[in-house]
Amino acid sequence: MNRHPTVRRVIVAVLDGLRSDAIDAFGLDHVRGLALRGAHTLHGRTVAPSVTAAAMGSLLTGVRPERHGLTSDRFHVPRSHGPVSPLPSVLDEAGYVTTACLADVPLLYRRIARALARRLGVARPSFAGHDAHAILDVARPWLAAQRSGLVLFHWPDADRAGHEAGWMSPPYGAAARRLDAALGRLAEWTGVEDDPATLLVALADHGGGGVDPKNHDSAHPLDRTIPIVLAGGGVAAGRRLGPEASILDVPATVLWALGVAAPASYEGRPLAEAFDGQRGALSSAVRSVDSTAAA
Ligand SMILES: [Zn+2]
Repeated sequence: MNRHPTVRRVIVAVLDGLRSDAIDAFGLDHVRGLALRGAHTLHGRTVAPSVTAAAMGSLLTGVRPERHGLTSDRFHVPRSHGPVSPLPSVLDEAGYVTTACLADVPLLYRRIARALARRLGVARPSFAGHDAHAILDVARPWLAAQRSGLVLFHWPDADRAGHEAGWMSPPYGAAARRLDAALGRLAEWTGVEDDPATLLVALADHGGGGVDPKNHDSAHPLDRTIPIVLAGGGVAAGRRLGPEASILDVPATVLWALGVAAPASYEGRPLAEAFDGQRGALSSAVRSVDSTAAA
């Protein structure tokens, strides 16, 4: 196990359905700025199937959908296949609180949403607000008060517009800009880029428009490729994440940054190459090949 010497709090913002190429296409300056001043990849991978419930399940458990059991876009309390250690539970055992802020859910689904959150070990689940800005507004006092542990946001805007009007359509662009503005507010409120104690991770859960212009559930690269951005707490400016970086690496990175041992079931690796004083996975691989050749 490692620990980052300064990080005490990790904020993860899931930008639902945000394609990497939307960042340039729609001038998402906050995402781009955080990416360039921090570490990023535009070629991150999400899980199969590339749907929100499966991807969020993986983000919160560190294992692929076939293991955690959420293998469709339907949220339910799943039957897992093999040991699953939810990230919030693992953090809780180490004394870290998890807050999760998602959009409001219809009354019918509220009980299942709370049951899922409880099962995952989320101390403070919030289902309030219709879009990214409203969800963020609800969380503002918690962001100010919670100085350690995990704060997770899920912002639905781009996915919603993609299903309604198509990925990369003008309404999708407007939704993507809303996500960008919310991320800018989050970064400003938290002062994350000047706060060595807070790490911000922004990523999409899937892309969209690969096969079906209004959907994202396929193996097409446009559906399976996601942007992953790390900023703040000890992140080295201008670093590129390894080409194989995946949504499964995010829970491993959260634990690594906070100094909590990852359960053996976790399939991802800490994205250590994003941080000052850490060698990238790529460069160390190259070095070992070099030293073998020299010997
Ligand atoms: Zn969707």
